[in-house]
Amino acid sequence: MSNPDVLVIGAGITGATAALALAEAGVSVEVVDRYGPAAMASGWTLAGVRQSGRDPAELPLAQAAVALWRDLDARLGAPTGYRQTGNLRLARTPAEVETIRALVADQTAAGLPLELLSDIGDIRAIAPGLSDMVKAASWCATDGQADPVATVNAYLNKAQKLGAKISIGEAVQELTIDNRRVSRVVTNRRSISPGVVILAAGTQVNSLLEPLGQTIPLRLPVVTVLRSARCEATLAPVLGVANANMAARQEPSGHFRVTSGAEDASTQLCERDGKPAIRPVAQRVMETIATVSAVLPAFADAEIDSIWAGALDLTPDGLPVIDRVPGAQNLIVAAGFSGHGFGIGPVTGPLAADLAQDQTPQFSLDAFGFERFAKSSGSAPLTLHG
Ligand SMILES: Cc1cc2nc3c(=O)[nH]c(=O)nc-3n(C[C@H](O)[C@H](O)[C@H](O)COP(=O)(O)OP(=O)(O)OC[C@H]3O[C@@H](n4cnc5c(N)ncnc54)[C@H](O)[C@@H]3O)c2cc1C
Repeated sequence: MSNPDVLVIGAGITGATAALALAEAGVSVEVVDRYGPAAMASGWTLAGVRQSGRDPAELPLAQAAVALWRDLDARLGAPTGYRQTGNLRLARTPAEVETIRALVADQTAAGLPLELLSDIGDIRAIAPGLSDMVKAASWCATDGQADPVATVNAYLNKAQKLGAKISIGEAVQELTIDNRRVSRVVTNRRSISPGVVILAAGTQVNSLLEPLGQTIPLRLPVVTVLRSARCEATLAPVLGVANANMAARQEPSGHFRVTSGAEDASTQLCERDGKPAIRPVAQRVMETIATVSAVLPAFADAEIDSIWAGALDLTPDGLPVIDRVPGAQNLIVAAGFSGHGFGIGPVTGPLAADLAQDQTPQFSLDAFGFERFAKSSGSAPLTLHG
């Protein structure tokens, strides 16, 4: 299949879910990825599946995604590790209590079942290992978590069974435009002429858009991630905090997986074991251990298995771009997920697939247009991942 109907660039959660939607619709689809499934953000991620704290424009997508996550293992015929364990967003100071109170009021009004817990006893009934530092929390029982690498592989394997071609180790170098259409996709191996291209290249999206005279105004802040050795199971829900300077969960295997807040940094990609990597900074690692251990003392005693850093593709308003690229009718971009694109992946890839098939998308994409940034100059706070 040298010229598929749709070529998907990127085998992260977005590309993988788009590919399955297309394969299920009987469209010939090929996915190319420079490094491999979940090699970048979809592998670096915390992998919370969260509706709470979402922008109103994204909340319907997040709620629809949760409905899909519940049946995903059966649909994909493989485990995604999805568990609906809930999400506690913690307040550690009086100011954070007010932040959480406002969050609960806003989100409840928007139709999300979210509870305000003001008693540490009620919070510890959900997460017994929390310290006295915790003053209050929001509780969203329908949030959850999953295994990101298993999920992406499950999607790709299912798509492959339905006829999708998955080409790994192939880097797209250039898109050629003729008559306002992508006529050719040049990789390090060959030239492809697909009917439509879905660009789901995460933080790398602008390297292919810039030569076309188009860019998404992205910042690429960095998050530090630590994964512990196996520990006694003490933490069921995903933890966040009011100012988003940490998040944590415990995998079913007992490994804690914890993240720092996002910080602007000059992101240098290097390669480790053939995969793209960002080297974590010692100071950020120490700060993350201190911040997490202050609310979750068990983490201070944990042995650390691995440490990495991951970059976010942060747009000025913290919302993704899911749209056709101006000046290229058959080029669709799905990127800029701003640190929360994993949980909504089961919905966002299929939305890009709808556009690729010229179908009316299942949800309004008005808030996710490519050209919206030309009209505003906002800057999203670095508080959004997790
Ligand atoms: C530390 C961290 C914590 C996070 N926590 C959460 C969370 O708890 N919950 C949540 O919902 N989201 C979270 N996110 C965000 C979420 O992980 C991302 O939004 C999501 O994984 C993005 O998926 P993607 O498929 O769009 O991009 P990616 O996963 O980055 O995939 C892009 C793919 O494109 C490939 N590619 C790039 N350029 C080329 C090219 N030229 N040719 C071929 N292939 C190319 C790359 O190899 C890569 O595999 C977090 C992110 C980070 C970094």
